[in-house]
Amino acid sequence: MTDLREILPDAASRRLLRRRLMAWYDTHARKLPWRGTHDPYAVWVSEIMLQQTQVGAVVGYFERFMKALPTVEALAKADEHEVLRLWEGLGYYRRARQLHQAAKIIATEHGGRFPSDPEVVRRLPGIGRYTAGAILSIAFDAQEPILEANTLRLFARLLAYPDDPRATEGQRILWAMAEAVLPRHDCGRLNQALMDLGSMVCTVRSPQCEACPLAMLCRANQQGRQLEIPRPKGKRAFESVREAAVVVRRNGRVLLLRWPEGRRWAGLWDFPRFSVSAGPGPVDPRELVENVQALTGATVLPGVRITTFAHGVTRFRITLECFEADFISQKKTKTQLETRWASPSQFEEFPLNSTGRKLAKILQKQITQKPRKVGRKIEN
Ligand code: SF4
Repeated sequence: MTDLREILPDAASRRLLRRRLMAWYDTHARKLPWRGTHDPYAVWVSEIMLQQTQVGAVVGYFERFMKALPTVEALAKADEHEVLRLWEGLGYYRRARQLHQAAKIIATEHGGRFPSDPEVVRRLPGIGRYTAGAILSIAFDAQEPILEANTLRLFARLLAYPDDPRATEGQRILWAMAEAVLPRHDCGRLNQALMDLGSMVCTVRSPQCEACPLAMLCRANQQGRQLEIPRPKGKRAFESVREAAVVVRRNGRVLLLRWPEGRRWAGLWDFPRFSVSAGPGPVDPRELVENVQALTGATVLPGVRITTFAHGVTRFRITLECFEADFISQKKTKTQLETRWASPSQFEEFPLNSTGRKLAKILQKQITQKPRKVGRKIEN
């Protein structure tokens, strides 16, 4: 049974933890472009970008995004196309769309001012308990706790919590710990210090306990069980998927489609892309013709394979084979998606997913290279 009172029995022990942590943070805080501001918009954008993404990968995106859309109002007025283009490469595009939706709500229902009421903040699209706690504590100095990957690991080790910290009971105990350590003021700084300590010192594989300001309070350290805690997640089963993308050409332009609401990559543009029968053997050209027609209403003549990408999306390991095709005709159908013809020089204007962008770059390079081969049998 894990009991918070064993590690933090009274107010004096909580003060000691905070004092040691903040003394460490004063000299070790990471310098990040969203630090040092209490602008809730900047904090919010950074926190959404940081969900499922490493700090190092976020910095450049954050600076570019804030330069283009520096306020909630600017984001609310922006076209979704522009928001997705700024997000391109960060992945998990749902975050960008929810950020955009939430900005519109703030603009229309809250006069463009980011709300400070926790209940209201938690109702905004894309904002869960952790993100609300981070924004409210950092921007408004609210006494709100946080629990994310770094603090979850740190707290689990401080408590030597032996069970799954992501399960209901683990979450209850660790959120209680996150609340227990909060001071009355300066909660944002304390929360940031906890995240930095978890990320820089109490790391997943090699916690530096000798450099840790909380070592004397840490039960995992006392028991020599740092590497057993937190209990690892069960291994994920990966699923192999075979997909095809088709570059449909017509008079120097290429057919793009826009993924609708509810689909993977909703809001992004793409080459017609779909699952095909698993191998072995080459992709059946009839599958290419039928799927392009179903998605776009276009009838095509498939050509050679251009390239193959291997990539991962959540638990799927995807092999994406990209083919040329010549356009024959297009009929409007009830189920076809929004489409657009674009020349390779216009691809930069369209937000694409990462494999879509890689394919677009190959096509842009081809413009200056030898004439392509079309209408031939598929080579594999
Ligand atoms: S003593 Fe080690 S295991 Fe404990 S919190 Fe510090 S770095 Fe993590």
